[in-house]
Amino acid sequence: MSTGASTITSTRDSAASGPASTTWPDLPAAQQPQWPDAAALAEVQAELASYPPLVFAGEADQLRAQLAKAARGEAFLLQGGDCAETFAGATADGIRRRLKTMLQMSAVLTYGASLPVIKVGRMAGQFSKPRSSNDETRDGVTLPAYRGDAVNDYAFTPQARRPDPQRLLRAYHTSSATLNLIRAFTTGGYADLRKVHEWNRGFAATAANARYEALARDIDKAMKFMIAAGADFDALKSVQFWSSHEALLLDYERPLTRTLDEEPPLAGQEQPRDVRQGGPYDVSGHMVWIGERTRQLDGAHVDFASRIRNPIGIKLGPKTSVDDALALVDKVDPYREPGRLTFITRMGASTIREALPALVEGVTRAGVQVTWVCDPMHGNTITSTSGYKTRRFDDVVDEVRGFFEVHRALGTVPGGLHVELTGDDVTECLGGAMEIDDAGLGTRYESLCDPRLNHQQSLELAFLVAEMLSAR
Ligand code: PEP
Ligand code: MN
Repeated sequence: MSTGASTITSTRDSAASGPASTTWPDLPAAQQPQWPDAAALAEVQAELASYPPLVFAGEADQLRAQLAKAARGEAFLLQGGDCAETFAGATADGIRRRLKTMLQMSAVLTYGASLPVIKVGRMAGQFSKPRSSNDETRDGVTLPAYRGDAVNDYAFTPQARRPDPQRLLRAYHTSSATLNLIRAFTTGGYADLRKVHEWNRGFAATAANARYEALARDIDKAMKFMIAAGADFDALKSVQFWSSHEALLLDYERPLTRTLDEEPPLAGQEQPRDVRQGGPYDVSGHMVWIGERTRQLDGAHVDFASRIRNPIGIKLGPKTSVDDALALVDKVDPYREPGRLTFITRMGASTIREALPALVEGVTRAGVQVTWVCDPMHGNTITSTSGYKTRRFDDVVDEVRGFFEVHRALGTVPGGLHVELTGDDVTECLGGAMEIDDAGLGTRYESLCDPRLNHQQSLELAFLVAEMLSAR
């Protein structure tokens, strides 16, 4: 499961605004870059440690409370964004289109299923990737694999592929700029449900968009009725949108982990924090997850997750045993806190109906409540005959269907959806109403890593999931 295991040297958390409290134990850490210059890395880490937090602890606490609702079936998590964000992709237009796509999907889900949707971007921090091989060979030339923009450049030259710690700083600043725009959009009125029509502007006229327009008209009508009846919709002006990424690069996450003695409580959180809420928090994002390749029980990533107070996701593949899952629960969620732990299953369409029931049943029988989320992307990756890494839209839908079926049969809660998507009209996944075929993949294939649902496929999926959710 692990490649590129290396050992991280213990460092003190000099970033803490309170007393330095975290000594990182010396544990094997899979999937870490081999930085060529240790002194340059240390300098970068010291700089990261001096930077302000990207998110507040109080926000992470709010998200945890919302995820607890998703675990109980009182809300639904929509987590989505690029497989790998890029520095070049952090343009106003690119960020806005991804955000609009998520807002549209959540409008479809909320309206279709009458359930609040918790919107979490794979955004503002998703700059590093685990790889199946440390190297890549092209035409007899072998170079280090691309590990995401936070580590090296995609271009296939020795210079570009050399891990450069300066990129960690750029990952921070790009995350900061992305978050700034997201916060401006979501608190400045742009995400107001009364703008439900406007989110569709700028996207090509497609069947999914037409269906969305019809739904937006319904929502509009319902809202106008409610406003006429005296309802106050000003509360909708500001929308909560959370940021998440895989906590893969410990050299980035650790300097951004802080104890927070001085942070004031947010509005509505005036209650004194309990002891555990002092921190530390990873202030690089509201929620972080541990990937399928780095969730070794005795590894540095699970240890890291166990020490921070943020809500934690853990990806679980089809071979996960009940014992594995329960051991992860014991380690990461020893106090069994509602909303603390989200299990993101990624089994594959052909496997989920066999593999998921025993897992969910075993965890549930142990009296453990987690938020169960379906990632229908990572178990369904294939290589097309034209040579592209792709996924069939139908497989994605089928895995989500299987996920709902399993939870329904067990009487447990399907708590959310985790997808790789973009707001652009890319051609990376096969099928959908546009019927992208093998030959069509090359038309606009832009992902540097895994294939994403395009705008239309994302909306189509949302309509289908809304149906599954309302029939739940
Ligand atoms: C990912 O989410 O891009 C990823 C690598 O997933 P997983 O850890 O499930 O393979
Ligand atoms: Mn991916």
